Amino acid sequence: MSANAGPPDRSPRLAAVIGWPIGHSLSPLIHRTWADREGAPAYYIPLAVEPGFDAFAAAASRLSALGFAGANVTIPHKENALKWAGRASPDAAAAGAANMITFDEDAAYADNSDIGGFAQALDDVLASGDPRGRALVLGAGGAARGVALALQRLGYEEIVICNRTAARAEALARRIHGGRVAPWEMRSDLAARADVLVNATALGMTGQARLDIDLAAAPGHAIVSDIVYDPLVTPLLAEAAARGLRTLDGLVMLMNQAAPGYRAWLGEVAQVDGDLRRRLENALRGSP
Ligand code: NAP
Repeated sequence: MSANAGPPDRSPRLAAVIGWPIGHSLSPLIHRTWADREGAPAYYIPLAVEPGFDAFAAAASRLSALGFAGANVTIPHKENALKWAGRASPDAAAAGAANMITFDEDAAYADNSDIGGFAQALDDVLASGDPRGRALVLGAGGAARGVALALQRLGYEEIVICNRTAARAEALARRIHGGRVAPWEMRSDLAARADVLVNATALGMTGQARLDIDLAAAPGHAIVSDIVYDPLVTPLLAEAAARGLRTLDGLVMLMNQAAPGYRAWLGEVAQVDGDLRRRLENALRGSP
């Protein structure tokens, strides 16, 4: 160390998550857990910002001016974030949406860690002999974009997008190599030929209708994933498990997508492990 090096910089590092509504976000708990583990002087706050580009732009500019290092972005601002930022990563550009904004002196940088977060989560479940032929994605909203691009990254040959609103499915399929569209009514038939099936709709979430799909003919090697994490075991995952299929819940994606933001803004070590998972499960159950 040089003779005139000062004490380590202990000024607090600041980050936020922007959304509407944002009260039930688990992101502050994830970041607080990581910061506490390594004693990082870090604060991560939830910020409710009403829908609309102008509201997002005002909030993001204010955070930047206040010295925040960055922010995660969730519904309904992921497209606003990409539009507002001066620069974007290839992932954010490919998705047409950003869930991370890093504030720089001159321009903000938009990124998308939903893609890497889901790719990592699924890769951890995949065995070396698993076929990567057909993937079925239910949904075509913001989360489905990240999922479909992750499946493309993992090498699936055909990625079938099945969404209630066909026009949104078509728009998403155009972004994906190997992407094609199938009618929403076909979902049970398509499940019979899918190596992996992902629910990326809001169906099955607490307060929403359940996802109506028949897994009776799904192949025994299929992996069934639900990115909804409240409840943790959705009716889809319960049925898949009852049929002996491998399952992947939404909490794994949530934890993995958070890590790049923590490392960019607040600290160094963002370990996705059983302890973090237990804390999130407790929060979902409403216990301390
Ligand atoms: P979004 O952009 O609003 O998209 C919602 C999707 O759900 C659309 O495809 C929509 O179809 C479909 N949908 C909603 N109600 C439906 C119904 N009654 N019948 C059929 N389809 C219906 O939302 P999002 O950002 O993609 O989020 C979707 C879910 O993913 C949420 O539950 C969210 O919590 C979860 N999520 C999880 C993670 C994670 O890390 N685990 C990350 C992001 C999001 P239409 O196009 O026809 O409206």
